[in-house]
Amino acid sequence: MNDWHAVVVGGGIGGLSAAVALRRHGWRVTVMERAADPREVGAGLTLMANALRGLDTLGLGPALRRGAHAEAPGGIRDRRGRWLSRVDAARMTRQLGTTALGVHRATLHRVLRDALPASSLWTGAEVEHVESGPHAAEVRFRGPDGPRTLAADLVVGADGLRSRLRAQLFPQLPAPVYAGSTAWRAAIAFPEPVPAAITWGPAAEFGMVPLGNGQVYWFAARTSPPGGHAPDELAAVREHFGGWHEPIPALLAATPPGVVLRNDIHHLATPLPSYVRGRVALLGDAAHAMTPNLGQGAGQAIEDAVVLGAACSGGPHGLPAALAAYDEQRRPRSQAVARASAQAGRYGQQLRNPLALAVRGAALRLTPGWAVLRGMARHADWRPPTG
Ligand SMILES: Cc1cc2nc3c(=O)[nH]c(=O)nc-3n(C[C@H](O)[C@H](O)[C@H](O)COP(=O)(O)OP(=O)(O)OC[C@H]3O[C@@H](n4cnc5c(N)ncnc54)[C@H](O)[C@@H]3O)c2cc1C
Repeated sequence: MNDWHAVVVGGGIGGLSAAVALRRHGWRVTVMERAADPREVGAGLTLMANALRGLDTLGLGPALRRGAHAEAPGGIRDRRGRWLSRVDAARMTRQLGTTALGVHRATLHRVLRDALPASSLWTGAEVEHVESGPHAAEVRFRGPDGPRTLAADLVVGADGLRSRLRAQLFPQLPAPVYAGSTAWRAAIAFPEPVPAAITWGPAAEFGMVPLGNGQVYWFAARTSPPGGHAPDELAAVREHFGGWHEPIPALLAATPPGVVLRNDIHHLATPLPSYVRGRVALLGDAAHAMTPNLGQGAGQAIEDAVVLGAACSGGPHGLPAALAAYDEQRRPRSQAVARASAQAGRYGQQLRNPLALAVRGAALRLTPGWAVLRGMARHADWRPPTG
């Protein structure tokens, strides 16, 4: 029996996926999560083919699909509701093996947590520092009983956008920056069928994603200065988007007050020179926090987890080479997706100039469906490592 011990810092989608992946390769895992009662908030999520292949590799595909909704058909509309571009679900399935899935974040979180023994998740445990030595690492954390340390062969930094581990390992690197937009989201009961679609207006977008079981996740984003808050965020969304095409007003009318979340969008604009330092590997938003415009942040975190688990399957002995392989496989791809996501935001949600909007609309209408899909496949057509 191995006693290879990994400490995963952060119990979000990336950290839990990494814990599942490492356990499948024979590691004993401790996940340290600073929240005392960790619950994934943040409404819904779109999972593309790459994320689904990653979850299939972790053995979680069937459980997830039972709680999710196949997204079809869909596309992009203008704010009067005219389709600019449509996604052909059958063609997508032929090309990528699956449509995208709409899932409530709480469902994905539950599926990941259920795949781990309860004893491996330490809640109310905030990691303060990690010391990576030649033969082991030491994790200093503050738990419910005060400060403690724990030894580990491997430490995974999955502590999100404001990662303390990233700041510790790369102190000269700039912090994440504001990407120029603020976003609102909610998951609501809405029994009418809706397509999985995005509507673009000047410097704004509104998206809707069916989650199944009479639930819909909607999100809205606007270009605006950072730090804004409204006493009633739902009223702020209604004020801007309430005059857009149906079913946007109907979705907003069905949204209970108080369930709307608002976040300024930040991303890691300066890419990391490595995802690894000693025995510490960064993953998910800690490694490559990106804008949500391609719906790939969680997908990339899941890919990281699958690749890290496979790379570390030989245990602690070959760890330097294993982590170098992880960095080599994951950094170029995830950083390219992050760049593409920021660019998609600039030419999508953030475009404001009326002439540019007209040119974009005409170009989208003229783009054949297969070319739209080819663009999507660039990021979604990922295969997990074999062997
Ligand atoms: C508006 C919006 C929409 C999005 N839509 C999509 C989408 O449709 N599809 C998609 O794939 N992605 C989407 N994303 C991105 C996705 O949500 C993130 O990329 C993903 O959740 C990152 O997961 P993570 O585990 O790396 O980080 P997080 O989810 O941030 O988890 C980090 C965890 O670490 C814990 N933590 C932090 N510091 C410490 C510490 N010192 N000690 C212990 N624990 C700590 C935190 O409490 C947290 O639980 C969206 C993001 C936004 C903002």
